[in-house]
Amino acid sequence: MKEIPLCVPHLGGNETRYLSECVATNFVSSVGPFVDRFEASFVERIGTRFAVAAVNGTSALHVALLVAGVERDDEVLISTLTFIAPVNAIRYVGAWPVFIDAEPAYWQMDVRRVAEFLERSCERRRGEVRNRATGRRVRALLPVHILGHPVDIDPLLALGKEYGLLVIEDATESLGARYKDRVVGHLGDVACFSFNGNKLITSGGGGMLVTDREDWGTRARYLTTQAKDDPIEFVHGTVGYNYRLTNLQAAVGCAQMERLDDHIAAKRRIAERYTAGLGDLPGLSPMVQAPWAFSAYWMYTILVDERRFGMSSRALLRKLDQARIQSRPLWQPAHLSPSQKDVPRADCPVAEQLNSDALSLPCSVGLTDADQDRVVETIRAAARGVEKREA
Ligand SMILES: *Cc1c(COP(=O)(O)O)cnc(C)c1O
Repeated sequence: MKEIPLCVPHLGGNETRYLSECVATNFVSSVGPFVDRFEASFVERIGTRFAVAAVNGTSALHVALLVAGVERDDEVLISTLTFIAPVNAIRYVGAWPVFIDAEPAYWQMDVRRVAEFLERSCERRRGEVRNRATGRRVRALLPVHILGHPVDIDPLLALGKEYGLLVIEDATESLGARYKDRVVGHLGDVACFSFNGNKLITSGGGGMLVTDREDWGTRARYLTTQAKDDPIEFVHGTVGYNYRLTNLQAAVGCAQMERLDDHIAAKRRIAERYTAGLGDLPGLSPMVQAPWAFSAYWMYTILVDERRFGMSSRALLRKLDQARIQSRPLWQPAHLSPSQKDVPRADCPVAEQLNSDALSLPCSVGLTDADQDRVVETIRAAARGVEKREA
């Protein structure tokens, strides 16, 4: 029986042609037409005035925090239920994450908890917002649109405005998603995308920072290219980074970007078929989309209620593994991460429950109906096995 992987790239377009062009023209490194073209495709698709490519999504987030002026000992509010990368980026600039619980419906940053934190735990002093417990300045909100679904952004933007906080979107998992017909990645002050191998599109590895603010766009380009001040002399105005994407990677990215809508259509179809195939099982909740959202359904995930399903999400993972089907839990909530043990403790029961119940299922763009049916059948058989045991 062949293995069904969780989420692998789908290289179904002009990738080889564009890569050959790089080789033929000798433009393989950090200069070349594909880098410019890839950036232009984001300006067009997302609608921001500026797009700056980076070596990966994490470095794009690092630079986003730098251009936004988040400083050492500032605090940044972020959902605890996220892949660790944006938390690391906050730490790179010496700032502190404040972990916010997830909401139970769509598993995104709970905006009511953000409001509560700002109202009850902070005070305004000389035009700044300070966390009363730590004395630190609260500087920014960092919503992470997880799994292809947007955060409920309007109330969050309203809080940002009320408290004078910047909004930095981590849109790495949600390229192509929309919030009330507005494009994810064009909702806050600056946003980042990732083109890691398992994302909606891939460039092998890569990232993109997008913003409407000219000074931030210019600064981002400067910081990602070693902060060089002179076109000829090696004069550097500040500590810069070697974060530029290569032309080879951008070539793959351009080919993938041409196929983005097909990828999203495939992901949405996979979601529909899983929900149709599994939605009736007691104790198993399929992934849902908010009425105000267009989800890109990047990573199809179910919740397994151990008591009602008769089996834990991890036991189901092992059952799937025995059938050579790869599945995966969601991330350890960041407030529990050993890497963040120096951050003041947060109370995030919803995220902890989601971490224990969630299981992501195979959802590669190229997943065949037959393979998907095998996943569905294996889960249904596991459920029947439980019934038999109990009878
Ligand atoms: C993938 C991802 C990133 C960036 O990842 P890179 O591998 O550095 O491109 C950042 N945040 C989240 C939530 C992600 O899932």
